[in-house]
Amino acid sequence: MKITFYGAAGGVTGSCSLLEAEGQRFLVDCGMFQGDEELEKKNLDPLLFDPTTLTAVFVTHAHLDHVGRLPLLMKGGFTGHFYATPPTVELAELIMEDALGVMTYDHKKMGKPIIYDEMHIAGVMEAFKAVEYDTPLAVGGMTVTFRDAGHIFGSAFIEFEAEGKRVVFSGDVGNVKVPILRDTEALPAKLDALICESTYGDRLHESSATRQEFIERLVSEAIGRGGVVMIPSFSLERTQELIYDLNDLIERKHKLAHVPIFLDSPLAIDALKVYRKYSRYYDEEATRYFKEGDDMFTFPGLTPTYTRDESMKINHTPGPKIIIAGAGMMNGGRIVHHALRYLSDAHNTLLLIGYQSKGTLGRRIMDGQSPVRILGENVPVHCQVKMIGALSAHGDQNKLLGWIGTAKPRRVFLNHGDPAAKVALAKKLGELGIKSTPVEPGMKVEI
Ligand SMILES: [Zn+2]
Repeated sequence: MKITFYGAAGGVTGSCSLLEAEGQRFLVDCGMFQGDEELEKKNLDPLLFDPTTLTAVFVTHAHLDHVGRLPLLMKGGFTGHFYATPPTVELAELIMEDALGVMTYDHKKMGKPIIYDEMHIAGVMEAFKAVEYDTPLAVGGMTVTFRDAGHIFGSAFIEFEAEGKRVVFSGDVGNVKVPILRDTEALPAKLDALICESTYGDRLHESSATRQEFIERLVSEAIGRGGVVMIPSFSLERTQELIYDLNDLIERKHKLAHVPIFLDSPLAIDALKVYRKYSRYYDEEATRYFKEGDDMFTFPGLTPTYTRDESMKINHTPGPKIIIAGAGMMNGGRIVHHALRYLSDAHNTLLLIGYQSKGTLGRRIMDGQSPVRILGENVPVHCQVKMIGALSAHGDQNKLLGWIGTAKPRRVFLNHGDPAAKVALAKKLGELGIKSTPVEPGMKVEI
């Protein structure tokens, strides 16, 4: 088997690997590059392989950096099938549509290019075949098995058996004790190679056992101040987990006061339908709640605001109230409009629950900048700014070491991580007697 790394090799986005086996060519993921403008320009580059030569494409999960360029394969003449779990198939459609919406908006505002259209997304959706976890599948002479990665709803790591070898692509590996999701399945034994993400290869998360306590404490303090609580949130997974935790705290445990909560994100509201539809993938606790008849994504006081009109009406509801809106790093989306209105009032709270990358509005506020520039206005930041670090979708160094360490693969290739993360993880793996190689863009390896 041969593997060529075309994306998520030098950094954490743009996942795309070519797998050659049994005389055929396959792709694992084809995601967008995300981050600063320079990185995002890479999405305009022509693909470094010919999509017409591919037999099949395997998709680990529905995050934009894993599915965002799938329509480009259709545009490039790909005629095979895409394989993913049923939730991934449906969530991927929402993510690709959203990406097209953002490109169309940026095109109108700034003349940026649109790299594919509706027809290409429709082409991907028609070519998708849904695959269940732990069900071996014969594709192009290989045996392919999807296993639960516990990263986001429907996420998988994928096991390939061909030419007498066994290789696993990790996709993204989930954090421990995440609501709704099951834990990451164990890696198979006798593994010739593991291609593994290393996003948090150099970091340890705060204990996730306390995640709900953090939410409870910070939200009740914020409600106590009587103002507006703004929670910028990633529309896929993070928001659904937050809603699940709020349902648990409000409806089941009666630990939080009933205040109006607005879910102000069309994408998150659409994604909720997929979470509701596929209850068979829930973890033990969520399954129990579901069987008891609790709709975990609805509770007293929660109002989804889908349309712009509904969103604008949130202003008419007096505080205390909670607004959950995208984007997670405040670099766009409806949260920007709420920030413009509410950041300057000391009664209000901005609760940051995810990673804030450099240059984003979320990061500038987190770093103490005030005033901040929003939609052409200077807005002083007088509200409280609080952070919860425990809500990460990726496993930390300990999780990765435990997961890889028990399987002891013959070789490990580290992708999807910044150089420092890869080096740190490689060193720790070395201490366990596991040889690993950091992946570089364009690198080709033979297994
Ligand atoms: Zn991911």
